[in-house]
Amino acid sequence: MIRPIVQTGTPVLRERAELVDPAFIGTKEFKILIRDMFETMHDAPGVGLAAPQIGIGQQIVVIEDRPESLDDMDEEYVRERLREAIPPTVLVNPTIELLGDDTITFFEGCLSVAGFAAMTPRHKSVRVNALNENGDPITLEWEGWPARILQHEIDHLNGTLYIDTLTGDVRRQALRELRRSRPTPQDR
Ligand code: ZN
Repeated sequence: MIRPIVQTGTPVLRERAELVDPAFIGTKEFKILIRDMFETMHDAPGVGLAAPQIGIGQQIVVIEDRPESLDDMDEEYVRERLREAIPPTVLVNPTIELLGDDTITFFEGCLSVAGFAAMTPRHKSVRVNALNENGDPITLEWEGWPARILQHEIDHLNGTLYIDTLTGDVRRQALRELRRSRPTPQDR
C-alpha cells in the first residue's frame, strides 16, 4: 500500500525516531511496513525513505536505486555523482560514522520538501551499522551517491532535514526560495 509522505512542518519529521525492538522485526506488521515503504518510495519516485516520512517515528530506512533508472540518465551525470545501482536495502536502528574528510557537493532533494533542491555538501564515504530485514547485523561502507543517501536518510531518524545542514549564502538563498514556494512556511 502506498502511504502518504508527510511534508516539512509535520512534527514527526522533527523528532528523534525511536529504536525498534528487534522482536518487532519478524512480525507480519513489520513485513507489511517494509513492503509499504518500498512501494511508497518507488511510487514517489525516490531512492530512499525513512519511516518518519510516512508518519512513523521508528528507526527504519529503505533504500533502492534501480539499475534501469540509471540507464535513463546521462552517463557523465551518473559518473560525476558517483551514482550506482543499489539493491533493495533495509536498515533498522542504523548508526553512521563519517569516514575521512572528503566532501562532495551536489543538488539534493527530499520527498518531504517537495519541489525543492539545494547544493548540499556530504561526506564522500560513510560506514553504517544496522540490522537488516531479518534482524541480522550488517555493516555497509558506501561512497559517493550511495553514501549521500545514507547520510540523508539517517538524518531523518534524528529529526534533521538536509536544508538544516546548509550554511552561509546557500542556506539563506535556500530558505528564501523555500518561503517563496510555500505560502505558509511552518518550518525553519
Ligand atoms: Zn528526505
